[in-house]
Amino acid sequence: MAERIEQIKERVTRQGESVTHEMEDSEGKKVAVQFSMDQLESMFLRLGKELRKPDDVTLKRMEEEEKKRQTSMKQMIDLANIETQAKINGQMNCSHRKEDGRTRIMGQIHSDGMYHGICLWCNKEFKPVAPPRELLAQGVG
Ligand SMILES: [Zn+2]
Repeated sequence: MAERIEQIKERVTRQGESVTHEMEDSEGKKVAVQFSMDQLESMFLRLGKELRKPDDVTLKRMEEEEKKRQTSMKQMIDLANIETQAKINGQMNCSHRKEDGRTRIMGQIHSDGMYHGICLWCNKEFKPVAPPRELLAQGVG
């Protein structure tokens, strides 16, 4: 497109302030149309705008895609919220103990030297603590 505009501008400069475009009508008669530089420029500007504008079908499809995107995003957020809430509820209702009263919390000593405990039932992560001496004695690491 830019190349075409360049060519026309060149012709316009040579011919003065206007360009004559010769065309044949449906009966083969020659028709000359003269455009001024300003007319040409505004025609190309308008054409460019029209070309960039999506047509009605495309526009409708784009709107539907956007709506779908919004809906699935909302569903994902809702699901994440439900899962988070379920996890929190589960953790709040969890005693972190087995039926026989033994702990479900297992842990490891991480590179920070702290013992990171997690409940194997509800996945609650506990605040890291200094490793209890008896765990070290048991060889937990
Ligand atoms: Zn638990």
